[in-house]
Amino acid sequence: MSRFFLLDRDGILNQDIGFIYEPHRIIIPEGVTEALLHLTQIGFRFVVITNQSGIARGLFNSNQLEEFNTYLQSLYVQKGIWIEDFFYCPHLPQITGECLCRKPKSLLVEKAIAKYQVDVKNSYMIGDNPRDVIAGKNVGLKTILIHNEPHSHADYHFETLVDWYKNMKNWNM
Ligand SMILES: [Mg+2]
Ligand SMILES: [Zn+2]
Repeated sequence: MSRFFLLDRDGILNQDIGFIYEPHRIIIPEGVTEALLHLTQIGFRFVVITNQSGIARGLFNSNQLEEFNTYLQSLYVQKGIWIEDFFYCPHLPQITGECLCRKPKSLLVEKAIAKYQVDVKNSYMIGDNPRDVIAGKNVGLKTILIHNEPHSHADYHFETLVDWYKNMKNWNM
């Protein structure tokens, strides 16, 4: 089993500017690079769990999404960080009907856990929306919410990624 950080994408790995799909618009948020390098050094691995309803809405297609993800992955590789996989939900209930994969539902989290034999008790889900931490908490992951307000499903809450990194450096993980 391996310890993982399951990462939300928009708002964590790239700034959330709303239905982003153009690689040239990627801005890496402050603090996340330092945090993921630290986690890499202490043995954590990374996958992404992301809601991408822009596909259901017709704003971009799955090829564009996957090109974006590959480019984002390459930006982090240049920094020494390896994001192993991207799991995404392309749905929106109002358009495509209910699905099992859109966070706060946990199907994608469960798939990642099964595929990579994630050590759930010692792994984390981090996101900037309460639905991210709900999806993680429901399967037993520890959860970190980067948001201006706390949430009952978040074990840890920080207002910014920089605050998270500064605090997390001292965690005994
Ligand atoms: Mg997000
Ligand atoms: Zn879905």
